[in-house]
Amino acid sequence: MTVAVCTNCGTLKYGAFSPCEECHARPTTNDEFVRSFAFSDRYLDRATMDEVSEYVRKNGEPPEMTPEAYSLIHKLVVEAKTALRMERMFS
Ligand SMILES: [Zn+2]
Repeated sequence: MTVAVCTNCGTLKYGAFSPCEECHARPTTNDEFVRSFAFSDRYLDRATMDEVSEYVRKNGEPPEMTPEAYSLIHKLVVEAKTALRMERMFS
């Protein structure tokens, strides 16, 4: 299963789109989906994820993504949501 950094508190959690066990935050907007997906082991190695985790703990928000990375992953998120009909689950 995918391991992802919680973009709210920095805890490592299982599943980019699942609720965080620590702070119970879960992504709901496309923007949050993009960041949760980007800061997961799908795109980052474990050392980088630890750095992102540390960053979120210190700053209370995830690091900025490059516009290129953001738009690429945004496209994937929109496609995945359509394919999986996730809107139904989160509406
Ligand atoms: Zn959290």
